[in-house]
Amino acid sequence: MINELMELSEKLIIERKQDPVLLARMELAAQGQSPQFLLISPITRSGQDLQLFSMNQGDALHASRVPNNALLPPDLAPTLFKGPASYNSKFPIKRGVIVTFDIDESLEIIRETIENITHHPDLRSLPILAFQVNYENGRVKIIVHGRGRNYEYENKFMHRIRIPDELDDSLLVLICSDSRVSPPNSSKGVPMSIPTLGGYIPEYRHNGDETSQLNHFFEKWLSSGEETKRILIVAHGNFEGEGSSCSAGIASLNPQTISNPSLRPVIEELVRAASVFEISPPQSPEDRVKSLTKATKANLLTYPAIKEHHDIYRLEIEELLMDTVTNTLFQFDGI
Ligand SMILES: [Zn+2]
Repeated sequence: MINELMELSEKLIIERKQDPVLLARMELAAQGQSPQFLLISPITRSGQDLQLFSMNQGDALHASRVPNNALLPPDLAPTLFKGPASYNSKFPIKRGVIVTFDIDESLEIIRETIENITHHPDLRSLPILAFQVNYENGRVKIIVHGRGRNYEYENKFMHRIRIPDELDDSLLVLICSDSRVSPPNSSKGVPMSIPTLGGYIPEYRHNGDETSQLNHFFEKWLSSGEETKRILIVAHGNFEGEGSSCSAGIASLNPQTISNPSLRPVIEELVRAASVFEISPPQSPEDRVKSLTKATKANLLTYPAIKEHHDIYRLEIEELLMDTVTNTLFQFDGI
């Protein structure tokens, strides 16, 4: 899998470097990120949502929720929702939260998800742009709700809709919420993805929070179909020497400097988890995100669904590094 993904991404990078718009985005990405939207997608549609709204590098910080489940309240979803949404609060221009629903998701799931977005302390003043999507034919419906809308942006996004490439639901990518990185495509299409701060997934917690939802999601996914399923953990940073490091990785080197009370515990969890895999204090954010990847891999194996399928070889878990600016992929041993 690794070779295939690396070859595809190399081809894509050559194309991107010839496009003046994308080249300008890369130059901006080298300076840092300043996304104007927070995008919350179902895990199954995270990659496709970027294409659906014709989003470019740097446009949206990314969070996710488990499909066919309402987004949990912030305190029960620190990794999938609370952390990324709190991180979003530091950017200077915030225009709204975009939330998408698959065509088969119920009104109750939609209602509860929008309600729980309004419960996040850092999102209260932002409009919520909610869309229900048929990903097969690109038909999108604006969801009418009473929790703060913005008609101008809703219409703007409706005009940017394009039918996304086919979904590769045999591949799940764990990647940072950073607006400058996106999950690499496979030869079959656009993978599913879970965007979190630093691409980190916590241990299974047995307490009815986001990790229980994730375990159900893994169980359903891994039990479906005959083909081998693959999880790819992507750590990103300045791996080409002229770019920008993972912001969550940087924050985790100095968690005491974070004043936002919603964000600080999420970053402290990254420190705690990564430290277990560090013999000495990390010298750079790049060292930190590499140990975070090891922590995530170990944590995945605490989920009963993952452990069962990994043991019987119906699941492969692999890791790659990605340059923040060019999105070039590197093998772990190569750097
Ligand atoms: Zn990052």
